[in-house]
Amino acid sequence: MKKRCPNGNPSPESEGTPIRYSIVIPMRDEEGNVEPLWREVTEVMGALGEPYELIFIDDGSADRTYERLLSLYERDPHVHVLRFSKNFGQTAALMAGFDFARGEIIIAMDGDLQYDARDIPRLVRKLGEGYDLVSGWRAKRSDAWLTRRLPSRVANWLVARLSGIPLRDFGSTFKAYRREVVAELRLYGEQHRFIPVLAAQWWNRLSEIPVNVRPRQWGRSKYGLSRTLRVAFDLMTIAFLQRYLAQPLRLFGGWGVIALLIGLGLDGYLLEEKFLRRVSIMGEHGPLLLLSTLLIITGVQFISLGLLGEIISRTYYESRRKQIYSIRQIHSRRSDLALPVETSPQIRERRFPP
Ligand code: UDP
Ligand code: MG
Repeated sequence: MKKRCPNGNPSPESEGTPIRYSIVIPMRDEEGNVEPLWREVTEVMGALGEPYELIFIDDGSADRTYERLLSLYERDPHVHVLRFSKNFGQTAALMAGFDFARGEIIIAMDGDLQYDARDIPRLVRKLGEGYDLVSGWRAKRSDAWLTRRLPSRVANWLVARLSGIPLRDFGSTFKAYRREVVAELRLYGEQHRFIPVLAAQWWNRLSEIPVNVRPRQWGRSKYGLSRTLRVAFDLMTIAFLQRYLAQPLRLFGGWGVIALLIGLGLDGYLLEEKFLRRVSIMGEHGPLLLLSTLLIITGVQFISLGLLGEIISRTYYESRRKQIYSIRQIHSRRSDLALPVETSPQIRERRFPP
């Protein structure tokens, strides 16, 4: 007989049963949303009727979010709680959840009830049509227009143009992924907004469906206009990486070679002037000499920069497994983790086994 947990759903923890869905939810100062969100998600996942896990990441909350999550953990075996040692940001929280998740399908959402868990079955169904990633498009947002919706529109347009990926809403964190897609992702900074772009480096079936968004009922948004600049920088990095990460020499090298060739050509002309025509180069062609010298130096520098970039990108690829967060406590019934674990130096180094 299947074990039942208090809410009547099949227990996920009969060891060996593969988990179908992992729901990843970062939370910072969301104490008032913990309980209602859990109820909403649990109802929806129960109706889907396949083994699932809920992974909550407490991203250094200053309120009672962690205590509330702990009380969920005690009641519901589907729940896993990762408590960060400090606030690392939403991107790091998502990464931690992705690293921890074992489901075949990973669903990320916010912890503030702005997204509607009732859209999960639609996301999942779309994924089942053969996509690698399905993103929730916030068709009707209620955020402030000037500080939130306008920058987001501009960013979305730019990202779509630069990346060539025809999505309408890159900033939405409500997405379903095939597990393999998430396994490839390494995020830094505020990059969770560019997940589709990064994922598209390895996977090409991306899709988008409209989802319901609601105004925040409890608590405040953690973001304002100030993040727009950070996003703009991330955007530049992404646009650059997207094209040249693997071959930085292609970007710099091309210009370097052109400058070098023109410089050498001019020098050849000057040499001919000096030795065959006996023209005084300094007197007659001073500026030209300057230009050719400049071009040669610039060319050599560009090519070296490109080569340097190549070295750095090698290092990047080799160090992709670098951790961007640190965990204080894990509460989970997963036997492979031998938990709960109190703070220990080892836990910082620990990678979740896949
Ligand atoms: N969040 C987080 N760490 C942070 C900031 C936000 O884990 O440093 C979580 C937050 O609790 C929420 C989600 O990320 O679950 C989205 O944040 P928020 O609702 O403030 O962003 P908005 O919806 O306004 O873009
Ligand atoms: Mg929100």
